[in-house]
Amino acid sequence: MKLTIQGLNKTYSNGVRALQDVALTIPQGMFGLLGPNGAGKSSLMRTIATLQEADGGQILLEDTPIGTIDVLRQKDAIRRVLGYLPQEFGVYPKVSAETMLDHIASLKGISNSRERKLIVDALLEKVNLAHVKKKNLGTFSGGMKQRFGIAQALIGSPSLIIVDEPTAGLDPAERNRFHNLLSEIGENTVVILSTHIVEDVTNLCSDMAIISLGNVIAHGHPADLVASIQGKIWRKIIEKPELDNYKANHQVISTQLKGGKTQIHIYSDSPQLGFEPVEADLEDVYFSKITSHQELGVVS
Ligand code: ADP
Repeated sequence: MKLTIQGLNKTYSNGVRALQDVALTIPQGMFGLLGPNGAGKSSLMRTIATLQEADGGQILLEDTPIGTIDVLRQKDAIRRVLGYLPQEFGVYPKVSAETMLDHIASLKGISNSRERKLIVDALLEKVNLAHVKKKNLGTFSGGMKQRFGIAQALIGSPSLIIVDEPTAGLDPAERNRFHNLLSEIGENTVVILSTHIVEDVTNLCSDMAIISLGNVIAHGHPADLVASIQGKIWRKIIEKPELDNYKANHQVISTQLKGGKTQIHIYSDSPQLGFEPVEADLEDVYFSKITSHQELGVVS
């Protein structure tokens, strides 16, 4: 199974070109869609989840048990195999986790109440909420709500799962639990994880894309993308007032405070005076791609 996207375009009525000729092939496993705020990630996620229309293009979920599904045309078919955890996940505060999941399961077409109970209990166990299943959702912490969100997205054993910015607002322990849960989702599922947090992709994803201003600007295995910039990232500790000067003369990709001093990373094919080489990581890939794309002035 795989999801293929071709020529996907979306311009909002205010003139913002949120998706510009997006083309991607997303295989089974965990796929990271990385980009800064406003890049177009949610627009893409909502389009795949059939919650908004594209202006043009094609999205196919290929090799499913019922053949190829044309996402933009066969909305009911895709909804039956889709699990979606949106960025803003509202819960009914006065309803218990168990009752809500049971309700969502019946909406997804599981009509036998005994079967629903088995499914709901197994999911509550899986996301470690069985002990609070009678509690109202309004009493849940951010991490518990996200785990509940995953449980509802997993009802009906979806083959395509979309998770939009899942770890924003979670503390490190909750984030870790959430990551472990996501990584347990079956191998024969396409999981798209949209995030602006590079570490989420480093920890979880076997494949990824970077999106900026509605364009896909990098696509591949994280390790290959890191290898492609190895030997081209250099670092230097500078005084903060010198930053503008460095920006004028180098491609400064990131700035970090280290013990009160400013450390910069630059992208350069050749050694630069005063800079030392650094072992590149996915953050360097991300920031070098984003800065060079935005410097090109490809602004919508
Ligand atoms: P991301 O999820 O990467 O933060 P979005 O897809 O939410 O990005 O937004 C992409 C661009 O489209 C942004 O410039 C945003 O302001 C704009 N946008 C998103 N939704 C709408 C909308 N409903 N109407 C108009 N502009 C929108």
